[in-house]
Parts: sequence; structure tokens; C-alpha cells
Amino acid sequence: MAAPGTSWGRWPRASHRVHGLASRFDRLPDEASMLPFGNGRSYGDSCQNDGAALLNARQLDRFIAFDPATGVIELEAGVLLSEIIDLALPSGWFPPVTPGTRFVTVGGAIANDVHGKNHHRAGSFGNHVLAFTLRRSDGSTLRCSPSENSDWFAATIGGLGLTGLIVSATVQLKRVPGPWLRGDSQRFGNLREFFEIAAESERDWEYTVAWIDCSGVGRRLGRGHFIRGNHAVTPASARGPGSGTMTMPFTPPLSAVNALSLTAFNKLYYHRPSAVAQDALWHYRPFFYPLDSILEWNRMYGPRGFYQYQCVVPQDGAEAVLSEMLRQIGQSGLGSFLVVLKTFGTVASRGLLSFPRPGATLALDFPNRGAKTLALLESLDGLTRSVGGAVYPAKDARMSAASFQQYFPQWEAFSRYVDPKFSSSFWRRVTETAK
Ligand SMILES: Cc1cc2nc3c(=O)[nH]c(=O)nc-3n(C[C@H](O)[C@H](O)[C@H](O)COP(=O)(O)OP(=O)(O)OC[C@H]3O[C@@H](n4cnc5c(N)ncnc54)[C@H](O)[C@@H]3O)c2cc1C
Repeated sequence: MAAPGTSWGRWPRASHRVHGLASRFDRLPDEASMLPFGNGRSYGDSCQNDGAALLNARQLDRFIAFDPATGVIELEAGVLLSEIIDLALPSGWFPPVTPGTRFVTVGGAIANDVHGKNHHRAGSFGNHVLAFTLRRSDGSTLRCSPSENSDWFAATIGGLGLTGLIVSATVQLKRVPGPWLRGDSQRFGNLREFFEIAAESERDWEYTVAWIDCSGVGRRLGRGHFIRGNHAVTPASARGPGSGTMTMPFTPPLSAVNALSLTAFNKLYYHRPSAVAQDALWHYRPFFYPLDSILEWNRMYGPRGFYQYQCVVPQDGAEAVLSEMLRQIGQSGLGSFLVVLKTFGTVASRGLLSFPRPGATLALDFPNRGAKTLALLESLDGLTRSVGGAVYPAKDARMSAASFQQYFPQWEAFSRYVDPKFSSSFWRRVTETAK
């Protein structure tokens, strides 16, 4: 387990004074600059406060109330989605929105207003939050909901932990028939085909996502697999996935990820026979959380860590701009194992600073190779900016202040809600440089 203050990309490095929080009734410590820390599943520096204090909110891990008749759950903000699933799935309830790992806290899910494979149906996590309690550094405690302190409710959803500490929350879970999903998986030859399949799938399929082969060039540019699924009644023959998880045993001295291993992996993965399945049955764990089966897989990138780049671009013109991104990535030789493409729907986010908006979102990992990687990411930012898109702060460790302020023009309205004693490495970077 990484120490509080290490983010998932293991880059940048930061040092902190860490304050444990024993319960939701604790007062905040007397610190000039502090930031809540959930479970460190953000990739960059939005969960870091270098040289200052972190509030270890993961320790707020108590369930307060759960009604199996309605699926309404009240809990402390450090409870993980995995712990909610363990408690609620046996009674037929599941998180309404889940990111690609179940090891995130409810506080972290609210603060980044996280999205999942069902964005086109369900919007983002904040759309399912009924209320939460926010503790501020002046000692005040605000109960926030769509009808109570509604401006603080909107500022805190997607508010990057800057408006105060969420100590507890009430969430509406989603009714499901059991732990299984049925669906299919198919290959597509290019981005145009991806958009056609996405459009035809969104009516009937609750969860949709695609993986892109970033070794594809020329006519194969943007080829990949499209996966879609719906919750399903547990078939009599179904057996669970077992408890199998592996842990990456050590951090290799150099990144194990290079151009050769990336191309080979992408080609093999694209051509694997199981990529095409007509009536597939998945347990929820491999369906939603394939990467969770290798604990600490992020260590394979070596001591310099890695960057993730996730952007959203408007649907109009998405094919052209994403093609250009994939072309530049291919040309740079800095490709990515994990390229995920998904469409966002039109359900409006409730957060003032939320990332999800209608369009297509592309997420990629890049080993940290210093200036070369940063130059590529800056070039991708140029493309994102040119079409009025945005980059996801939860995945970022390097975007410029100018980019952030273009992606999130509401940042000045939001900054009125920032607690005067709360800050983050990310926030200082994207706001303190003059425009
Ligand atoms: C493998 C993997 C897959 C992922 N897939 C997705 C995905 O599909 N969709 C998506 O949206 N994200 C995804 N993420 C990102 C992840 O969901 C978010 O970064 C999430 O916010 C992490 O939650 P955390 O509990 O680890 O919080 P941290 O990363 O520790 O913190 C995140 C933010 O929440 C704030 N915060 C934490 N606790 C509190 C609190 N109690 N009160 C106030 N603020 C708080 C922090 O200050 C920080 O700003 C993925 C991450 C990984 C590693």
C-alpha cells in the first residue's frame, strides 16, 4: 500500500504532514494549508499538497445507515466503493456509477465527480448523491443537498477537495439483479465505425466502452474492441471469479514499458480470439475492474512513474481530432497500453467544476520519459483546446494554467468556494500563474 500523498501515477513526488482523522466528529487540525486525501487513485497532483498538510480521509470508514428496501446508504466519506459492494450487493444494490477501479472512496468519487461506462444513461457520481456534510476550517459544518446549501453542493461535487472536508454522504444505490452482466464484444476497424457502434448501442446497453489499439496506423488507425453490457439475472451455472488478485511485487529500476512491448501488446490484444463474443457473461469484477486484479500495477512504470492523459472533445469533429491525436501518439513512439474511448451522454453534471460534458473521452497512459512526454502531452492539449474540449484534473500532473482556465472557464466563480485553508499542488499550478 502506497503512503498517503503518493498518487496513482507515482509522479510527481511530494512530501506532506499527514493527519489521521479518527471519526466524522473530529475537528480539523490547525494548519495553514491542507487537503483531504482519499485512497490516492488520482493519477497526478490533484490529491497532493506538496510541502503542506494532508487529511487522511480514508480512515473515515464507517457505515451509518443502509436501507435495503430503498438502496439509500449513508456513510463516512472514506468508505470505498468495494466496501459498499460487499455490503449492498447481496441485497441487490450496486454503486450507481463506478470508475474503472473499485478502490476509490466516496469522498474522492464526489470530489472528482467520477464517471463510468454508463455515463450516457446515468451521468456522473454526483447525480446520485442525495446529501453530504462538509466541514470547513473555520469550524463550521454545512449540510449540503440539492435543496440545502445548494451552491456548496454544486461547488463540492467535482470541487477537487478544495471546498472543505466531506465527512459523510448519503447516496442512492442502483437496483441490480445480481453480480452478473450479459453483453457482447466486437472489433471495429477505425474511429468512424466506433462512433457508429456507440450511437446504435446507447439505447439498449447500459454500459459501453472501447479499447483502442494504438499500434494501428494508416487505414487501421483507431481500430479496437467495443464492449457493451447490461446487468443480468445470475444464471444457474455461474461461478464467481474467485478472489484472485496478484500484486506487482516490486518497482523495477527502469520502466518495463517500452515501444517494443507496447506494440506487441497492442497487436496481440487486438487479435486475441476472445475479443469477439456474442453472448458473453461477465462477473462484475472483470467487467468493471479488469485492472484491479493486479494490485499496484502502476509500479510497472518504474521509479519515474507515468502520466495519464484523459480529454473530452465535443462530438462534432471528434473523429478528426481523435485521429490526429492517435497519429501523433503513434509517431512519437510513446504509445500506451491502455487506450480507452467512451462517449459521454447529455445528462448534465451537477458540479460547478465537473469534467464530464457531452462528447467523446479518450484516456491513455504514458511512461514518464521527461521532456519528450511533456512535449507530446502539450501538443495533445493544443488539439483539445482547438475544439473546445477539456482535460480531466483527476488524471493530470502537468497541464498549464492557460489550458486549465480555458477548459474550465467557471474556475473563478468556483474559487469563491475554496476554503481559505485548503489548497493542492494542482490548484496552485493551474491558478497561480498569470493568464
Ligand atoms: C485504474 C483506475 C481507473 C480509473 N477509472 C476512472 C474512471 O473510469 N472514471 C473516473 O472518473 N475516474 C477514474 N479513475 C480516477 C479515480 O476514480 C478518481 O481519481 C477518484 O477521485 C479517486 O478517489 P480516491 O478516493 O482515491 O481519492 P484521491 O485520489 O485520494 O483524491 C481525489 C480528490 O478527492 C479529494 N477528496 C478525497 N477525499 C475527500 C473528502 N473526504 N472530502 C473532500 N475531498 C476529498 C482529494 O482532495 C482529491 O482532490 C481511475 C483511477 C484508476 C487508478
